[in-house]
Amino acid sequence: MTIRSILVANRGEIAVRIIRAAKALGIRTVQVHSAADADMLAVRLADAAVDIGSPAPRKSYLNIEAVVNAAKAAGVDAVHPGYGFLSENADFADAIEAAGMVFIGPKGEAIRLLGDKVAARAVAEKAGVPTVPGSDGRLATIEEARAVAERTGFPIMIKAAAGGGGRGIRVAADLADLERHFPQASAEALAAFGDGGLYLEKVITRARHVEVQILGDGENVVHCFERECSLQRRRQKVWEEAPSFLLPAEVRARLCESAVALARAVGYRGAGTVEYLYDETTREFYFIEVNTRIQVEHPVTEMVTGIDLVAEMIRIAGGAPLSVRQEDIRLDGHAIECRINAEDPERGFMPAPGTVSGLTVPEGEGIRFDTMLYEGYTIPPFYDSLIGKLIVHGETRATCLERLKEALQGLAIEGVATTVPLHLALAGDGNVARGAFDTRFLEQWLETEFAGKAGPTAEVA
Ligand code: ADP
Ligand code: ADP
Ligand code: MG
Repeated sequence: MTIRSILVANRGEIAVRIIRAAKALGIRTVQVHSAADADMLAVRLADAAVDIGSPAPRKSYLNIEAVVNAAKAAGVDAVHPGYGFLSENADFADAIEAAGMVFIGPKGEAIRLLGDKVAARAVAEKAGVPTVPGSDGRLATIEEARAVAERTGFPIMIKAAAGGGGRGIRVAADLADLERHFPQASAEALAAFGDGGLYLEKVITRARHVEVQILGDGENVVHCFERECSLQRRRQKVWEEAPSFLLPAEVRARLCESAVALARAVGYRGAGTVEYLYDETTREFYFIEVNTRIQVEHPVTEMVTGIDLVAEMIRIAGGAPLSVRQEDIRLDGHAIECRINAEDPERGFMPAPGTVSGLTVPEGEGIRFDTMLYEGYTIPPFYDSLIGKLIVHGETRATCLERLKEALQGLAIEGVATTVPLHLALAGDGNVARGAFDTRFLEQWLETEFAGKAGPTAEVA
């Protein structure tokens, strides 16, 4: 079917991003919002808006019934879920399709299969994709966990099958740790995700987080190369790049092909990301999970491939075949994204909602700023603190970094504390410039380098 109207079932910068893609395709947009979000940018940009409930996410953006009813009442053809919220909820995808509308993403069954991190590991293994050494399935008892740990060794990670957003992961240094954390981890996972299922993975030390962007139309699958996302805090990405600059061409080819093989094995439809850990010393990569949605960091891939991933998602959902062939997808230069959060990096990343009294956005060749901000906007305290993403493109990584520094200096968000100073410091760091970092780098750097720079009030949690 041709999609003529879309309900945007998200908020913030990604809602704005979806509206822009829809407008470019001549598609009408209807934006949902909670009572706290009536004045958000996406509401202003959309053709129509619907109030779906109180500020608490459970009452609005996570309320399947409220969102499905809003879509039905608006009479839209399709629903775009963005990231977070209901984007990886298979029941939501099923409910949209059962109501006769198109869910812009994979089929509910594919989300169900790949969203369960234990089931996804099995799919990966079956497709010949190397996984992190660990348990074969969900662990029912501590005895099973102990047996796995004895086989793989320590340190080991206890991970929630339903985890996401960096939550539901604990490290056990030894057997005593494992025995202590295991029951707690299960109870916490049950409370947080409604599923107490756990599995174990050996800790890959000095790893880089590398992930492959894929696109599938249910028949064909292509990859749009990889991203490097090792700069993380609390296992959440802070800064992302494309491509992964230290990956040998031969490893890149194997990595991207493995992601395509995995997606093919399930007849994947839509945009998705296959995440891996990469060990530079052995040149081995290990599958960790699949995200069956658009990701926060998708713009870096768009900058180096020229593909509009959100537009492609919409076209595919409408039944069109992929508009790109693998041989036509080429890498052009380098891109870096800085996630800008309304948080005070000098005060333990304390959330800093409030009113944006002034906004100056850098402009110029190779600079993109995806945001929900406008002057006078009040950032509500109820949601994720991401307020924008500064993305810079350059011919080489070095020119990209130079351009990034200038762009960060030209970005002024007044009235609220943001993570811009953190990114300025990172952009000027020697190790970052050399690309000498792994997934543990940023947290150590925050304690040593940044704590010093941040002055006497610094208090890094
Ligand atoms: P991951 O790092 O797991 O691949 P992403 O970084 O791409 O995931 O972003 C998804 C995460 O962003 C969610 O798990 C959630 O914690 C957070 N999130 C959810 N909704 C929003 C939103 N509207 N704006 C910003 N962040 C969100
Ligand atoms: P989420 O679903 O929360 O995104 P992931 O499984 O993708 O969780 O892992 C998030 C991050 O945690 C990774 O990017 C990496 O930094 C770290 N991590 C996950 N598994 C391992 C592992 N086995 N060894 C080392 N680090 C890991
Ligand atoms: Mg992940």
